[in-house]
Amino acid sequence: MEASATEDCCVKVAVHIRPLINDERLQGCADCVTVVSGKPQVQIGTHSFTFDHVYGSTGSPPSAMFEECVAPLVDGLFQGYNATVLAYGQTGSGKTYTMGTSFKDGSQTGLIPQVMNALFSKIEALKHQTEFQLHVSFIEILKEEVRDLLDHTAVNKSETTNGHVGKVTTSNGVITLAGSTEVSVRTLKEMACYLEQGSLNRATGSTNMNNQSSRSHAIFTITLEQMRKFNPAFPGDSNLNDSMSEEYLCAKLHLVDLAGSERAKRTGSDGLRFKESCISPADINAEETLNTLKYANRAR
Ligand code: ADP
Ligand code: MG
Repeated sequence: MEASATEDCCVKVAVHIRPLINDERLQGCADCVTVVSGKPQVQIGTHSFTFDHVYGSTGSPPSAMFEECVAPLVDGLFQGYNATVLAYGQTGSGKTYTMGTSFKDGSQTGLIPQVMNALFSKIEALKHQTEFQLHVSFIEILKEEVRDLLDHTAVNKSETTNGHVGKVTTSNGVITLAGSTEVSVRTLKEMACYLEQGSLNRATGSTNMNNQSSRSHAIFTITLEQMRKFNPAFPGDSNLNDSMSEEYLCAKLHLVDLAGSERAKRTGSDGLRFKESCISPADINAEETLNTLKYANRAR
């Protein structure tokens, strides 16, 4: 999990080690990753790595990662800072579970649902002096193609051009995807519905162990626009009156569930599927886990 923060450093890396899952226990897998007590450090074999945060499979409350890594980005959004949260790791490492872009596993506890809760609580607290407009978009990048997960007409029509998003255009550092749906959202419930709808539309490619979206990147983007009224003489004064000035801010939070980081190995005739075993703290995945940790370490 990486996050561009508004503070001292622009990229922060947090590692989350999920618990062994039943399949891994049945295969007799053992934990091969340990967290160094009291430090944001993990050990795998003779290697050890230090990150900004490490969340072990036991010991950290599920909300700790949100509170420490993502909540500051939601606060930053209200100050006009853009931010991105990327979930990186091999298929089965828990990216989709952690982000909350799946509607199995009670994923309402994932990071995106927690972002939404925090966002709407803040809006509720500030709405007396600020007008808010929220939009969301949800796209998927599969191979070289960008698909709009909020376009109803795109569902089950991947052979047609429906739902396909046009080229990325960049002007003044702003990236826009021509043709991606940006829906206006007023309530938490509406936003949750779009997350659910898009997640269900997400194209899946079945691999041996994981048939959920392992080959595609999914990007859920929240755009927050604010028109804030303030008293230029007394910026802290929240009593509205006619002499108030207005300030406009717009910022985006991208929440990205990346495709599995494992190397694609050609299987069968289509050559497009990953040959994968499931993952994570399990010793059978030690090599990919080590690759992920090395990459994450370089990202800092
Ligand atoms: P990925 O998206 O990286 O391929 P998933 O999110 O689909 O991985 O997770 C793979 C499996 O591990 C799923 O069965 C999921 O329920 C389980 N899992 C992932 N993270 C956790 C966790 N923190 N606690 C319990 N089970 C988890
Ligand atoms: Mg996934």
